[in-house]
Amino acid sequence: MTIKQEDVVRWIKASADVLHENRDYLTKLDAAIGDADHGANMDRGFRAVISKADEFADKDIGTIFKTVGMTLLSTVGGAGGPLYGTFFLQMGMKTAGKMELSLEDWTTALEAAVNGVVMRGKAELGDKTMVDALTPALNALRKAVEENRSIDEALQAAAQAAKEGMEATTPLVARKGRASYLGPRSAGHQDPGATSSYLLLQAATHTLGSNDRPSQ
Ligand code: ADP
Ligand code: MG
Repeated sequence: MTIKQEDVVRWIKASADVLHENRDYLTKLDAAIGDADHGANMDRGFRAVISKADEFADKDIGTIFKTVGMTLLSTVGGAGGPLYGTFFLQMGMKTAGKMELSLEDWTTALEAAVNGVVMRGKAELGDKTMVDALTPALNALRKAVEENRSIDEALQAAAQAAKEGMEATTPLVARKGRASYLGPRSAGHQDPGATSSYLLLQAATHTLGSNDRPSQ
């Protein structure tokens, strides 16, 4: 089993859909501890990505991810845009020229993506940011590779770890980003960026795995 180029295209489209559906939810979360724009930011960015879908539909996986990263960088402002832009650009570097990915390839790409976010934003685990969803997801993928799990199992484990990481942001006091300006008042609210990261990884479970893949 591998992740195919067309699965990646489906993941990007499913991500755009889920971010659009959750636009108000993400905005509500950002209204509590930020400036109420995370839903609009992510939706705008991924709509711009989808407007280029014809351009990248038949390209290699690296080119697809680079297009996503560049588009997010140029259309999404704030903290989230550059961080997600970096995330996808890094994925693109690791998957350059590839038309399919093994679970190891996917894990290597996600590792570079998460490292890119950490380098750029300097957030550590527990700072109440997207890193709190992404790092546990990466660890779950690494463990799945070690245990020779299937791609489906690995993607499920990663999404589950991201979900737990996202939920664990609620009691935390933010130490990075806009929410950190609130100090202790940021506690009691789930982090918007951790939530969008979870949504992306959740969308991966039913597009990159074989579970709900249309029969061929
Ligand atoms: P802004 O905060 O500029 O309005 P968004 O609302 O789009 O940008 O994104 C906010 C999210 O960005 C936060 O919920 C958090 O997860 C993430 N974030 C902010 N700063 C950092 C950082 N330094 N490192 C990682 N993630 C960060
Ligand atoms: Mg915001």
